[in-house]
Amino acid sequence: MNITAHEQWLSEMKNAALRLRQFKDENGESNLQKPGDAVIRWALSLARLPLDDLSESDFRNLQGELTCFSTFELTEPYLRKGVITPGPLLGREEIAHTHKWLRMMVEAIRLHNPLYFIAPQREWFAVYSTEEQRWKTTYIEDTIVGPGAAPLFDLFRGRLDDLRPCKRSDCGQLFLRDRSRQLYCSKRHQWVDAQRTAQGIAPERYGKRGRPPRMAKPKARKREHAKGIKRRNLKPISTKRK
Ligand SMILES: [Zn+2]
Repeated sequence: MNITAHEQWLSEMKNAALRLRQFKDENGESNLQKPGDAVIRWALSLARLPLDDLSESDFRNLQGELTCFSTFELTEPYLRKGVITPGPLLGREEIAHTHKWLRMMVEAIRLHNPLYFIAPQREWFAVYSTEEQRWKTTYIEDTIVGPGAAPLFDLFRGRLDDLRPCKRSDCGQLFLRDRSRQLYCSKRHQWVDAQRTAQGIAPERYGKRGRPPRMAKPKARKREHAKGIKRRNLKPISTKRK
C-alpha cells in the first residue's frame, strides 16, 4: 500500500467520524459537544433498521462508521506512525454480527432483561433493579474473544439509566434522554400524547399519523375564510352602484 491509499483511508475515517458526531437526535438536532450521545443515537437507529434494506452506498457509509468507531472510539482519526497498512474496513459478516448483538442489547434494555457481555478485553454484566429503578453493572476483567465493537457496548453501559422506552404507547422505541424527566423520544411524540390525553379520545379514532381528530377550530377558520371572500366580492359591486 502506498501513501495515497493511507490518505484515502484516513479521509474516509474522518468523514465517518464527522457523520457519527453530527448524528441528529429525534428532534432533528445534533449536539457536537456530546459525541458519545450522538454515537449512542446512531447505534439505536442502526438497531432499528434491517441490514438488508440498506442501499450499497448506505452500507458503505455504515462500514466506515463502524470501522471508525471500533478503531478510534471518540477520538479524532489519525494515522499511526510506522503502520504499513491501514486497518481494513469491517466485512459484511462482522457488521451483521455486531448488528445482531446491538439489536439484542437494545431489546434487552427496553424490557429490563439482564445483560451479559463478553467482548475482547472486556466482560460485563448488567441487571435492572426494580426496587432501586436503575441498572446495576459489574465489570469483570477478562479476555474472551467476541464481537468487534466492544467500545460501542461500553458506551451503552455508561448510559443504561438514560435509555428509556418512549411513553407514547404506539412508539415505545428506546431513546437516550437528555433530561432526567424526559419521557418521550421527541417533542413531536410528547405533543401528540398530550393532545390525546387532553381530549380524552379513544385510540380507535386516532388518524393516520396517530393523532387524535381535530376539534372545532378548523371549522371556525373555514367560516371566517368564506366571509372574507364574500366581503372582497361585495366591495367592487357597491362602488359600481354609486
Ligand atoms: Zn416516541
